[in-house]
Amino acid sequence: MATINEFKDGLQMLEEATGDAERIQEQVLGQILKKNAGTEYLSQYLNGKTDMLLFKKNVPIVTYEDIKPYIDRIANGETSNILVAEPIVEFHRSSGTSGGQPKLIPVTAEISNLGALYFTLMTSVMNKHFGNLYQAGKRLEFMFAKEDSETPSGLKARSSSTSFYKHDRFRKVISKHSTSPIEAILCSDTNQSMYCQLLTGLIKRDEVVSVASAFATVVLRAIKFLEDHWEELCSNIRSGEISDWITDSGCKDALSSIMKPNPQLADSIQNICSCKSWEGIIQKLWPKAKFINAVTTGVMSQYVETLEFYGGGLTLVSVFYACSEAFCGINLEPLTGPSHVSYTFIPNMAYFEFLPLNKDSLTIAQEDVETEPVDLVHVKLDQYYELLVTSVAGLYRYKVGDVLKVTGFHNSTPQFQFVERQNVILSIHTDKTSEEDLLKAVTEAKTHLEPLGFISRGYTSYADTSSIPGHYVIFWELKAKEGNDNQELDSKIMAECCYRMEESLGYIYRSNRKQNAIAALEIRVVKQGSFDELMDYYVSRGTSMTQYKTPSCIKSKEAINILDSKVMSKFFSP
Ligand code: AMP
Repeated sequence: MATINEFKDGLQMLEEATGDAERIQEQVLGQILKKNAGTEYLSQYLNGKTDMLLFKKNVPIVTYEDIKPYIDRIANGETSNILVAEPIVEFHRSSGTSGGQPKLIPVTAEISNLGALYFTLMTSVMNKHFGNLYQAGKRLEFMFAKEDSETPSGLKARSSSTSFYKHDRFRKVISKHSTSPIEAILCSDTNQSMYCQLLTGLIKRDEVVSVASAFATVVLRAIKFLEDHWEELCSNIRSGEISDWITDSGCKDALSSIMKPNPQLADSIQNICSCKSWEGIIQKLWPKAKFINAVTTGVMSQYVETLEFYGGGLTLVSVFYACSEAFCGINLEPLTGPSHVSYTFIPNMAYFEFLPLNKDSLTIAQEDVETEPVDLVHVKLDQYYELLVTSVAGLYRYKVGDVLKVTGFHNSTPQFQFVERQNVILSIHTDKTSEEDLLKAVTEAKTHLEPLGFISRGYTSYADTSSIPGHYVIFWELKAKEGNDNQELDSKIMAECCYRMEESLGYIYRSNRKQNAIAALEIRVVKQGSFDELMDYYVSRGTSMTQYKTPSCIKSKEAINILDSKVMSKFFSP
């Protein structure tokens, strides 16, 4: 575990690295080329040379599909040095967005070292702003490992978070500073795991200084789970006995060491949870919590109001921007509100390049803007880019699939706002609606519903072309802040919401509508818990719950059927 001095050193290191980004980036690329120029992959472009200009000139920009044949060969038993000189020790299963096909991302020992450094830097930033959190108390962080799978060659394939939880170094940190027992985190039954993590979090409620999950979805899932199970949890706390359905031996062992009858604690939790409104429930249940730590940018920004409602004024902190491919940025100002979060890139983590995008259509820039990728220190303020990563583990000029916007600089290093996943597009005719467009449209409609006492538990969309002309369908889970969850929605107001969404969509969408090339936008309101079922579906298909991101747009027939079977009411734009 890092010591206080290491955290101070962490801050100093951040200052030094961000002040010297250009040199560090050159050094990172130089070392990657020196080690890997002889690999089968790079030598076809570089002929064994390690020249950086040649790298930029000859090495192609690739997507996962382009390098998949190499990865498959390694997964099937060929030596890893066809791609990277250092041995591949495992693969991380990345989904990017949960709707996508899981990818296998190569990992070498050096990646673990970078992960440890990234974690220390992030903790240094948090401690700077919130005081020494390790001394202040424990973190209630909802974490879920997934079972490992193996490639035919015997290499492990698992989510990066699972790898993190299983790593000795982090296991120690977790067991010391988190209320969630490692046995519960590793339990593959997510319901038993969630129950145990909530139970221990409630038993240790006076020690909890932050409530967290990697992405906002999981904190909200925990709240929904608590809504459904708080009476049972209180009864367990009262009696000191664990419910019979907790059969996982790890969970049982971990709980048995802390469970003892505690009627007083059960009473106070019961008093809080039996209130009509759950506004501020997180703050009430964990009174010493200083903040909620979960990513609330990108597609997660749809959950901000809902988290604020449950958080009761607790600061929302969105501190990291990372992907299975690379650790990228850290939010150096974690107290900034979710809509202003920017991530400062850490120059030591990988070699980063940025493909300029055309602001209006978010396609590759033409005309007045450069189309060649630019280096980290050469990005321009307010410009949009697609991120390319060259990693120490065998990714070269790899498109991560994220769109970022430059919002400023810390020393010489740029800071980026996360804009959206590239290519998540709804389209019927000539219209192209991106993740960000849709988010704006839903936000517009939401402002209409909030005064009526509804909060959003999630939305997604699909292009319904089963009738002609096709139309956009938005599935939406709405919850009444108080009272009956199945409260009737005013059809006039909901039709107005549909209309507001259409108004917010681009000019091309609207002109298609006028010409009847697209039919009226439809909102399908789904039952409580539908989006948890959607998450369960994707988790059953290989996505890690910790890394789950609600897809903005779904294409899978099965996923659409799940939501369709939960529809309570349908509304159309007038
Ligand atoms: P995975 O590798 O499956 O964990 O997915 C990584 C992806 O999650 C990234 O490429 C982003 O699309 C998304 N992501 C990670 N961090 C953030 C963040 N801070 N804000 C928005 N999206 C994020």
